[in-house]
Amino acid sequence: MHYVTVPVTAFAQNSSIVWCPSTMKAAVIDPGGDLPRLEAAAKAQGVQLEQIWLTHAHIDHAGGTAELSERLGLPIIGPHPGDQFWIDGLAEQGRMFGFPSVAKFTPTRWLHDGDTVQVGHCVLNVRHCPGHTPGHVVFHSPEALRAFVGDVLFAGSIGRTDFPGGNHAELIASIRERLWPMGDDTVFIPGHGPESSFGEERRHNPFVRGG
Ligand SMILES: [Zn+2]
Ligand SMILES: [Zn+2]
Repeated sequence: MHYVTVPVTAFAQNSSIVWCPSTMKAAVIDPGGDLPRLEAAAKAQGVQLEQIWLTHAHIDHAGGTAELSERLGLPIIGPHPGDQFWIDGLAEQGRMFGFPSVAKFTPTRWLHDGDTVQVGHCVLNVRHCPGHTPGHVVFHSPEALRAFVGDVLFAGSIGRTDFPGGNHAELIASIRERLWPMGDDTVFIPGHGPESSFGEERRHNPFVRGG
C-alpha cells in the first residue's frame, strides 16, 4: 500500500490518496474539498481514483464527497451509520464555516467495526472509533503498519468531543481499546497535523498516555 497526504480546506484537513502499487487503483480518504488539488495529486502519482472512503461526516472531511462521487462516478464507502445526522447537516455546516455549496449524499456502503475495505490488492481493516462523532471509523493496514485515524487522535492531542454526539469517555475507550492494539510501531495519519506512532502517543500524549 502506498499513499500521499494532501491537506485540503481552510482546516488543513489531511486527505490521503491510498493505492495498490501493482494495479495503481486508488481510494481517496476524506475528500473535504479542494478537489482539483486531490485530482492533480492522483494524476501526479499515475493512479486511478476508484473509491471514496470516509472516516466521519464533518465538513472538512466529507464536504467534497458528493461532487467528486458524481463527477467521477465513485462509490462512497463509510462512515458508520452513526454519522447520518452529520451528513444530513452538511449544507448547514457549509453555511456555518463558509464552504461553497456542499451537497449531501447517500453512502454506497456503510461501514461497521470489523469490516474491510479493498482497493486493488490492498485490504485495510475498519474499526469503529466513536467519541469525536458517533459514526467515526478508522482504516488500518497491518501490512503497511499505517492507520488513517481522522479526528480520533492527533500527535500530542485527541479529537474534540464538544460537538453534538461527542463523548469524551467513548473517545478515550476507542483510542485505548481499538488503536493501541494495532501496535506501538504503527504510524498514524491524523485528520490534521503531522504523523506520529501509537507508541509515541501512548508514552507522551497527555490525554491518553499510560493507559
Ligand atoms: Zn471532525
Ligand atoms: Zn477534522
